[in-house]
Amino acid sequence: MKSPINRLVAASVALLASVACCPVFGGDMLRLESPSLELRFDSSSGTLLAVGNKLTGETYNIAGDRFSVETTDFRVGFRDVKPVSVRAEAGRVECVYAHDRLGVEVAYTLDARQHFAEKRVTLTFKQPCGVKQIVIGEPSFSGVDLQLVAYRYPKFMREPGAEPICTYFGRTGKGGFFTGIEMPFDASTTSKQQVVLGYRPSLKVAAGEKLVCEPVYFGVYRRGPQDQEEKNLPLKAESEAMVAMTSAILGPPRHGLVPMACGWHSEMSHVTFRSAQDVEADMKSLDFLAQCGVDWLSDSHPWGGETEKMHGLRDDQPYRLGDLYRRFLEHARQAGVKVAMWGTLNNSHPWGNGGRPYRSDKPEWLMTIAKENYRTNPIVLGAKGNCLAIRPFEDWLTRVNLEGLATGYYPSWAIDGDFFGAGGWYTSVIPVTCTSDRHDHLPGDSNYGCQRALQRLIDTVRRHYPKTYIFMCRPPMDLGVWSLRNVDVCFTLLETGTGDNLTAGDQIRRWSRTRVQRDFFPHYLDQPLVFPSREDGPGKPPNWPKGHLDYVLLSALSSSPNQLYYLPTKSGIPDKDKAEIRHWLDWGRKHVEYLKVRKDLTNWPAPNKVDGSAHVIGARGLVFLFNPTQKPLDGQFALTEQSIGLQGPGRFRVSQLYPPAQRGVQLAFAETVRWQVPEQTALILELQPAR
Ligand SMILES: [Zn+2]
Repeated sequence: MKSPINRLVAASVALLASVACCPVFGGDMLRLESPSLELRFDSSSGTLLAVGNKLTGETYNIAGDRFSVETTDFRVGFRDVKPVSVRAEAGRVECVYAHDRLGVEVAYTLDARQHFAEKRVTLTFKQPCGVKQIVIGEPSFSGVDLQLVAYRYPKFMREPGAEPICTYFGRTGKGGFFTGIEMPFDASTTSKQQVVLGYRPSLKVAAGEKLVCEPVYFGVYRRGPQDQEEKNLPLKAESEAMVAMTSAILGPPRHGLVPMACGWHSEMSHVTFRSAQDVEADMKSLDFLAQCGVDWLSDSHPWGGETEKMHGLRDDQPYRLGDLYRRFLEHARQAGVKVAMWGTLNNSHPWGNGGRPYRSDKPEWLMTIAKENYRTNPIVLGAKGNCLAIRPFEDWLTRVNLEGLATGYYPSWAIDGDFFGAGGWYTSVIPVTCTSDRHDHLPGDSNYGCQRALQRLIDTVRRHYPKTYIFMCRPPMDLGVWSLRNVDVCFTLLETGTGDNLTAGDQIRRWSRTRVQRDFFPHYLDQPLVFPSREDGPGKPPNWPKGHLDYVLLSALSSSPNQLYYLPTKSGIPDKDKAEIRHWLDWGRKHVEYLKVRKDLTNWPAPNKVDGSAHVIGARGLVFLFNPTQKPLDGQFALTEQSIGLQGPGRFRVSQLYPPAQRGVQLAFAETVRWQVPEQTALILELQPAR
C-alpha cells in the first residue's frame, strides 16, 4: 500500500510501474533497470558506462567511473586494484577489488520504483593509516546537447572555507540527470563535462577497520512545460526529482501534526530551577500552551537547566532528573504537553548559565582549535567544547542521552549547539579544525569526524526509540538536507522576526518554498517559525502581532505539518487569540493527512500575485490560496496531476471551505479553476469528486 507521500513522489517523477528491477547480462554489458532509469556497466571491471533516461529516451555515456583513496601512507587508484568479482542480483550490482593494503567493495543499488540509483564504496584497511581523501567516482559525461551545471546549496553558507552541498545537473532540451554525494561539505569538483565526486574524511583508521563511504546518487528527470532556466537555480523538474529522491531516502513523515512551542523563546526559564516558585511559573506557561492547543514543547533550557550537574557527571555516574525538574515534567504530562529533551553536543549550556565542556576528568577530550583560523569569528573564539570525533566521548554522550530518554518523560529529543561548543549562529557552517593529534581525526580537519559522530548519535536514538520525534536545530539546520537521516523535523533559519502577521505569513511561505525547491527538503521535514516576535528589551513585553492570525497560521499549516511557535506565555495574549490559535491547530490535526503532501502552485508569494499550495490524495484534497495584496485577485490552477497532484479522470466539485461562503463549481479533470481571493486573505478550497 502506497502512502500519500509515495503517491506524490510517484506523481512527480512519472511513470513508475511495478516492473522488477533486475540486472540483465548482454554481451559485455550488465544492466540495472527501473521504469525510468537504466544503468549499464562493464561486466569485467564493474564500472558504470552509461545512464539511460527512460523518461526522455536519452542516454548519457560515461567514461572514468573510477575510485581512488589517498591516505597518509599510500595512494590507491583504480589502476592499482584488481577486480576479483562482479556480481549481480535483483536491484544490485556489486564489485569486489583487491589490493595489498586495501579491500574495496563497490555496490550500485536501484529500487524498482525509483528514478535514482546509489553507489556505495566500502573500504577495508589492512594497516593503520590516516584517510585524507576519497574519490567515489570521476565520471565524464557525454550526450547530445548535454550541459553540466554545478548547483550549490543552501545559499546562506558564505563563510570562508565553507563549501556547501553540491548537486551536478546534466541538462538537455528534454530533461537530464543529477548526481552528487549525500553529505554536506563534500570536496567534489567539476571541469567541462567531468565531475569528481569526493570528500575528505580526515580520519584515522585501524588495521582491519571497515570504512563505509558516503553514498553517491545518480537520478534522471524529464522537463515539464514550466521549466524556464533561471541563473544559479535548479529547474522546476530538477527540484521535483531531487525532492522525490530525498523523500524516498529520508522516509515518509512518522508523526501527525506537531505544533511545538520553543520554551526558550516563550518566556520560560533559561537557567536552573532553584525554587518551587521557579517551577510553578513555568508550569503556568505549560497551561498557557495547552490552552492554545500547542501540545509539544522544546524544553526551555538544555538538560532541563541542570547545567552544573551535566558537566560534573563522571563516567560511572548515570544521568538522573532533578526533583524540581521532574515536577515540571509531571505537570507537562498532566497538561498533555509533550516535551522534547534538549541535549547539547559538547558543552553543558552553550548559551550561558555557566556552561562548560563535559568530563573535566578527561582534558584530552577537549577540542583544540587553531585560533588563527577563526580570527574574524568571535563566537568560535569564545567557544569551549569537547571534540566530537573521539569514540569514547561519543559513547559517553550517547549513553547519557539514552539515559535521559529512558526516564520516559520525553516523546521527543532535540540537539542544538555547534561543533565548537558554542551556541551556533552560523558558526556551524564553518568546518571545524581541531589540531589535537590524540583524537580519531587527523590533526587539522575534524569536520567529517564530528558530522559522523552526530549522525551515529541520531541513528542510535532512532534505533532505541523508534517512535521518538527527533528535532534538530544546529548543526543540521545549517548543514542541509543530507544531515537529516532519521530526523523528523529541522528548525527553520527564519528567526529574524517580523512586525505583522501578513508579512510573516508571506515570509513563512517564501522560506518554505526555498527549503523545498532550492535546498531539496521534503516539505514535512521543515518547521516554519510562527510569531517570531522578540522582546523589545529587558522587562518589556514582546510585540505581539495583532490581526490576521488566520493568515499566518494557514501559511504555516500549508507549509508543513510541523511548526515552531514563539509565544509570550508569561506576558500573555488576548483570550480570543488563544482560541483562534487552538481552532486552527485543531483544524490542522483533523486534516493532517492532507498536510503531509504538498504541491506548490506556480507563483511565489509576491505583491499582485496569488500563490498557494495543493494537498491532494487521489481524488480529494485541499488547496490553499494566499493574496498578500490590498485588492482582490484571481488565483488559478489546473485540475491535473502535474499541477496539483490530482488523479483523474472525472468531474470534480471545488468549494470554498474558508472563509465560509456558499461558493462552489463543478469542473472536469484538466480544466482550470479560477477563484477570486479577497484582499490580504488566506482562503481554503476543498476538492472532491462530483456526485
Ligand atoms: Zn579533535
